Amino acid sequence: MTSDATSKRCDCPGCGATLIFAAELQKLRCEYCDAEVDVNKANQGPPPAGPVERGLALLLSAETSKGLGVSTTALQCQQCGAAISYPDKVTSGACCFCGSHLVVEKASNAQLITPESLIPFKVAKEQANEKFRGWVASLWFRPNDLKKMARVKDIDGVYAPFWTFDAQADTRWHAESGYHYYVTEEYTNSEGKKETRQVQHTRWEPSSGHHRGSYDDLLICASKGLSESLVRILEPYNTTQNLVGYQSSYLSGWGAEEYAVGPKEAWEKGQKRFEQNEYSACASEVPGDTHRNLNISMRLSQVTWKHCLLPVYIAAYRYHDKTYRFMVNGETGKVSGEAPYSFWKIFFAVVAVIALIVLFMKYQK
Ligand SMILES: [Zn+2]
Ligand SMILES: [Zn+2]
Repeated sequence: MTSDATSKRCDCPGCGATLIFAAELQKLRCEYCDAEVDVNKANQGPPPAGPVERGLALLLSAETSKGLGVSTTALQCQQCGAAISYPDKVTSGACCFCGSHLVVEKASNAQLITPESLIPFKVAKEQANEKFRGWVASLWFRPNDLKKMARVKDIDGVYAPFWTFDAQADTRWHAESGYHYYVTEEYTNSEGKKETRQVQHTRWEPSSGHHRGSYDDLLICASKGLSESLVRILEPYNTTQNLVGYQSSYLSGWGAEEYAVGPKEAWEKGQKRFEQNEYSACASEVPGDTHRNLNISMRLSQVTWKHCLLPVYIAAYRYHDKTYRFMVNGETGKVSGEAPYSFWKIFFAVVAVIALIVLFMKYQK
């Protein structure tokens, strides 16, 4: 399967307009005549496979299918570097990850590995917008123009790229276990009297052991626009139950970011994350009151991977040259937001509180 120009765009059977995937219906809908079409019926390619776990050899080979299976224009942000593909040009002209208007059109990269699964948007755009406005209204001590800006700003829905890894980890560890014991010592206090006190000592003994870890769908974010730490806040995504086989029709009406972290780099990051997890698992198994010099040697087997897309709503805005974001997990509705504070509002509030205290103290006298 290669990416094949416009052949897989989904057209309305009634009026021929482009169908949009509607999160609230989990179906494709025509915005003009309200016709609804099942996603599977709109699919013109081969029937989609379910989410498949694939072996490591395939990840690093060139044998995997490429492209999104739909003709797209991509917009690349000159500010943060994110490249977002739009199957049917529903762009606002600003980068949805950082709010910058420095975006240029480019051809979609057809050489990217095709995602074999995705979680469709479940939270409707209206709900996400409501959450955004509710959040802005609830903010205290924020600049006034922020609220003005939020009134006109719409939230963008984008599929963000991820790699997932499964693996069995076999880890041997060696450490020194420390056991505390107490010794009574005699000392002379400041008045020249003899007294005793308990002093803690540690006895070190070599220890070793073995840990087995089983990992399912470790997520590695491949986005350029979202940092790993931002994504952590939006997690979890229910990848074990809600992933469906990839079909380009789910992207209709939405943007999809091209991955910026390639398979090799993702696998390196994945191995590091497995190792960190195994290190802390082993650390909790070392006997004794404390330990030092913990060394692990991990072996991974039965490694499989997936490349999937996960739904995120983002309202990104720039304020005094800094990017702030409000985000909604497009599957669960979990929100997270950042906003600037207004110095003057906080300053006057503090002055008012001090004035009240002064008044109150005068009144007390
Ligand atoms: Zn129609
Ligand atoms: Zn950007």
